[in-house]
Parts: sequence; C-alpha cells; structure tokens
Amino acid sequence: MAFFTHAEFDNHESLHFFHDEATGLQAIVALHSTALGPGAGGCRRWIYANEADALTDALRLSRGMTYKNAVAGLNFGGGKAVILGNEKAPKSPELFAAFGRAVDSLGGRYITAEDVGCSVDDMRYVREQTEFVSGLPQTGSSAGGDPSPWTAIGCLQGIEAAVESRLGTDSLKGVRVAVQGVGHVGLHLCRLLHEAGAELYVSDVNRENLKAASAELPVTIVAPTELIYSDVDVLAPCALGNILTSTTIPKIRAKVIAGAANNQLATAADGARLAERDILYAPDYVINAGGIISVAREYYGSSSEEEVRVDVSRIRDRLQAIFDEAKSTGRPTNELADELARNLVAAAKK
Ligand code: NAD
Repeated sequence: MAFFTHAEFDNHESLHFFHDEATGLQAIVALHSTALGPGAGGCRRWIYANEADALTDALRLSRGMTYKNAVAGLNFGGGKAVILGNEKAPKSPELFAAFGRAVDSLGGRYITAEDVGCSVDDMRYVREQTEFVSGLPQTGSSAGGDPSPWTAIGCLQGIEAAVESRLGTDSLKGVRVAVQGVGHVGLHLCRLLHEAGAELYVSDVNRENLKAASAELPVTIVAPTELIYSDVDVLAPCALGNILTSTTIPKIRAKVIAGAANNQLATAADGARLAERDILYAPDYVINAGGIISVAREYYGSSSEEEVRVDVSRIRDRLQAIFDEAKSTGRPTNELADELARNLVAAAKK
C-alpha cells in the first residue's frame, strides 16, 4: 500500500498503525500537521471495505482537521484516527482501552475525541489510558461532553448564512432542507431546523436512527439513494463523505449545500462544479467546526459552556466572509477556504 505516493498524501507528517492482539484492535492514526499545535481530531470506527479505504479516510480526514482547526483559530494541528471495525474486534471497553494506549504512545502529538461510530462513553475508556483525549462526560456547566450538539448549532447558523446569501431570505420558515444521516449531529440539526420552521426531508441507512427521528419530528423520509437529489432548497449532508462528485453534482437540485459531514467533496474540482451550477457550498470544515471548538475548550480546561457558544457563533461570520468573497471574485468557496487554511498553517510554520 503506497503512502508517500498515495493520491491523498499531502505532506502528512506521520502515519501510525496499531494492532492489539487481545482485543483485535486495528487502528490508523494520521498526523497531517502539528504546525499550529498537537494534531487533534476525532476517532472514527467504521467497517471499511478494505484497509486501503481506511488509510484513504485517515489521510483525508487528518488534512481536513488541519484546515478546520486553523480556520477555527484553535491551537491545534490536524490528526485523525480510524479504527477498522470488524466482527472479531467488537466495540468494548477493552478495545477503547487498547486504543487509548495507542494514543498515549504518541506522547501528546495526537489528541483524540469521538467521531462517527464512537461516543462519549467510549472516550471514558480511552481516558483511563491517556490524558490526550477530549469529548469526555461534561461536569456542571464547564465545556465538554458530546461535541455533536455544538456541531449542529454551528451548522444551523451556517445554513442560515448560506440561505440568506443564496436565497435572499433571513428566515428558515418554510425552507425545505434535506438532511442526509440522522445520527448524532443530523438529529440535533433536525431539531434546530424544525424549531426554526424548516420543512424536513431525511434519510438514513440505519433504521433505528430513522425511526427515532420520525417519532420525534415531522419529517418526510426519503430513500438513501434519492435524498441528495431531492427537490429542496438546502442539502445538509450529515453522514459520510465523498457524496459530491462529477456524477452526483449535475443531478442535485438544492441551491445550497451546507452540512456537517467531513470531506463532502470527492475532489477540489467538485467545488468548482458546484459553483458553475450556482450551488452555494459551505466548506465542510468551516461549517462543522462547532464540535472541535467544544473539544478544544474542554481539553485546554477552565472554560465554560458559554465561552463555547460564543466561539461557535463565529462560524457564521467566517462563512459569510467566504460567501461574500466568492460572490465578488467568482471563485469557488472551497478554494477560498483551502487558501485561507493553507496561509494560516504556512504563517505558523514561519
Ligand atoms: P453518526 O455516526 O452519529 O451519524 C451518521 C449517520 O449517518 C448514521 O445514522 C448513519 O447510519 C448515517 N449514514 C451513513 N451512511 C449513510 C447514507 N449513505 N445515507 C444516509 N445516512 C447514512 O455520526 P455523527 O457524529 O453524526 O457525524 C456525522 C458526520 O459529521 C460525519 O461525517 C462526521 O465526520 C461529521 N462531523 C461530526 C462531528 C461531531 O461533532 N460528531 C463534528 C464534525 C464533523
């Protein structure tokens, strides 16, 4: 398997493979950049089709974390862990303890937290083995706990900014939003969108999550294969990445794409494809930074929930600036965000 010549290799600093015989843990930690601080990013547990897909995910997600943390103004670089899910290594306290030891062995160059397939509870077992973990159960009104509600709050504000910019309305009342994936972030986002008066269309490949969403909220359920092509105003991807491609983009009817999923664009060129179709894309790592903002405040300590709220509310202004620049220059929003992130990292390196 190639690393230095891998298509997703982007001057990553290091790549680490971990195996634990007792629990069957197989994990990859990719450290993209520590120029701005220790590489921070969640741990994803997913059943990958093969090891190559897991490596690709780790490389792409860790670069995304460098960009996300830089644009959010955090003292963190970019890193990400993936745990290769399989039936021989089921989720267990022991598995996450083994993962915690792996994280600890990196001596603080990587800080973990929960991502897809992991929870606050799992992080408790990681914490028993290492201090380099955040997203732990919240105590009182201090920053901390499940980061996904914060991600959802940032996404709601980003959707509001995008709708105002592209559709010219400052209210979400009656705005049709298709949410792909009603997991941790997606369900919270649906709640917030519903409160704001939006009309909801949802899909999920997990029946239980779909059932929970439809029991709680007035949603129209759409088949997973159809959701992204729905006749809606906004598409909010909140599942996995690589959904915006040269094949899918021509069929998308939404005018705005703004959601939590990481790596929504298959390639940077897909951002230009969206701009050509006049679809306003909120760069994923800018709009979905709410969770890592909470994780960072928790990790560095002595912060309140209120401080997290203030930091998260700045996502809206960052997106607004990108949307305005895209309008005045005609450049794709993803290109502008990438440029901003790369400049911040380059400045830190100097
Ligand atoms: P999650 O695992 O709780 O939810 C993801 C949901 O998407 C699940 O219900 C899953 O069944 C569903 N799903 C998977 N494939 C699907 C498909 N093809 N169609 C429809 N649904 C599908 O994960 P999460 O924590 O809610 O994260 C969602 C996305 O947001 C991920 O890409 C994650 O990396 C990103 N993200 C999450 C956070 C956070 O705070 N949790 C922060 C930033 C970014």
